[in-house]
Amino acid sequence: NKMVTVVGGGLAGSECACQLANRGIAVRLYEMRPQVSSPAHHTGHLAELVCSNSFKSTRFDSAAGLLKDELRRMGSVLLSCAERAAVPAGGALAVDRTEFSRLVEQEVAARPLITVVHEEVTDIPEGAVVIAAGPLCSPALSSKVIDLVGGDSLSFFDAAAPIVDASTLDMDILFRQSRYDDAQVGDYLNAPMNKEEYEAFIDALVNAERVVLKDFEGGDLFQACQPAEEVARTGKDAIRFGAMKPVGLTDPRTGRRPWAAVQLRAENARGTAYNLVGFQTNLTFGEQKRVFRMIPGLERAEFFRFGVMHRNTFVDAPHVLDRTFRIPGTSVRLAGQITGTEGYTEAIASGLLAALNTYADLEGIDGVSLPVTGAFGALVAYATDPATSGYQPMHVNFGLVPPLEDGRRRSKRERYAAYAERAANDLSAYCASRPDLFGRGPVR
Ligand code: FAD
Repeated sequence: NKMVTVVGGGLAGSECACQLANRGIAVRLYEMRPQVSSPAHHTGHLAELVCSNSFKSTRFDSAAGLLKDELRRMGSVLLSCAERAAVPAGGALAVDRTEFSRLVEQEVAARPLITVVHEEVTDIPEGAVVIAAGPLCSPALSSKVIDLVGGDSLSFFDAAAPIVDASTLDMDILFRQSRYDDAQVGDYLNAPMNKEEYEAFIDALVNAERVVLKDFEGGDLFQACQPAEEVARTGKDAIRFGAMKPVGLTDPRTGRRPWAAVQLRAENARGTAYNLVGFQTNLTFGEQKRVFRMIPGLERAEFFRFGVMHRNTFVDAPHVLDRTFRIPGTSVRLAGQITGTEGYTEAIASGLLAALNTYADLEGIDGVSLPVTGAFGALVAYATDPATSGYQPMHVNFGLVPPLEDGRRRSKRERYAAYAERAANDLSAYCASRPDLFGRGPVR
C-alpha cells in the first residue's frame, strides 16, 4: 500500500493530501496545532488563513485570476472550498474564513485514505514526504530542513524589492550603464536624480505610511537587511552612499554624474521586468506606488510585485530543489510558502503540484511539466531555474510569462487577456495529454 506523509495541515498540505487520496494514495497528514501553535495562527483548524481573507482577483485577465482558472482546470479541492465559502468582495475571491476551514476539514474527513494526526513533526519522516509547514514552520523541523538543504539555503525573513513592468518605464530618462562601464552598456538601468529630486524623494520615503509589523516580526529580525526607508531615516545622505550612490555613472543627457541614482536590474533574461535594487521596503502598497513613481523615468511604472518584508521561512528553491520541488537525492518534496512561492492561492497550487509529482514518483510515470505560459507554470519555472539569483518569495505575475510571439502592439489589458487565453489553451492541452495524472477530471 502506497503511503505519503504530509507535514502541515495548512493550505498546501490540505490540498496535497486531498489530491493524493483522490488518486488512491494513503496519507498521514500531520498538523501541530492546536497542541503547538505558531505566532500567527489562532485556531486548531486545518487551512486557517492567518491574515487577510482574500484570495485576490477573479479577473481572468489578471495573473491571480488566471491562477484560479488553472486550479479549476486541474480540479483543486481547496479552490472549490474557497468558492463555496465566498463572501461578496467585488472582483476578488474573499471567504468566510471559519466556513472555509470547515469545508476543508469536511473534504479531508470525506476521504478515508487520509489520517489526520495532530502532532508536531520534529524530524524528517521516512518514505515519501511532502513538507508543507509554511512560513512559520516550527523551529525543530526548520533545523532538520536546514540539515537537508544546507545552512545558507533557508531564510527566516524575506526582503523583496518592488518589481516593475519594463514596458512602462520611460527610456528617454533612464539610461543603461553598469558602474564604471561606458554609458549605454551594462546590466543596469539607472534613474538619475538631481539634488532637489533626491531630497523630495527622501522626504517622501521617510514620511510614507508603513505596514505595521506583527509583534513577532519586530526586534532584530531585519538587522541583516534594512528596509530602504529605515536606511534613509538614519541620515539625509545615507542612501546616496548606499543603494543610490551615483559613483561610476554618467547621465548621457547631461554628460555628468547625477546627484543620486536608483538602479534597476533585470528580473529575467528577456528583460521584461526590473527590480529596484536595494529598495526592499515595508511601505504600504499604495505608498510604494506614490513614492516610487517620483523616481525619474518611473512616473508611469506599473508594478508586477510590490516590495515586502516579513517573517517567513523559505528555501533558496532555484539552488536546492529540482524542477518538481524535490530535494535532490531524497524522497522529500516541499510545498507551499516554504518553497518561496508566496500567497494563499499559490500555496494551494503548489500543494496540488506536490501531490501530482509525488503520485508520479510512486507510479513510475513522468512528473508534471506545466506549460511555462501559465501563471503557475511560469512561477514554478522561475522558482526552479538555477539562473534565478537573489531568490525572494514571489507570487504569480505576468512579468514571469514569456512574451507573446506575434509582436503586435497591445494595450496592457489586451496583452494580459492574450496571456490568459494562451495559458488556458496550453494548460488544457497539457491536461488532456496526461490522463495518467488527471484522469477524466474536470479538464475543460
Ligand atoms: P500554512 O497555511 O501556514 O500551513 C502550514 C501548516 O503547517 C500550519 O498549519 C502549521 O501549524 C503547520 N506546521 C508547521 N510546522 C509544523 C510541524 N513541525 N509539524 C506539524 N505541523 C506543522 N498570503 C496571502 O495570500 N495573503 C495574506 O494576507 C497573507 N498573510 C500572511 C500573514 C502572515 C503573518 C504570514 C506569515 C504569511 C502570510 N501570507 C499571506 C503568505 C502565505 O500565503 C500564507 O502564509 C499561506 O498560508 C501559506 O500556505 P502554507 O500551506 O505554505 O502554510
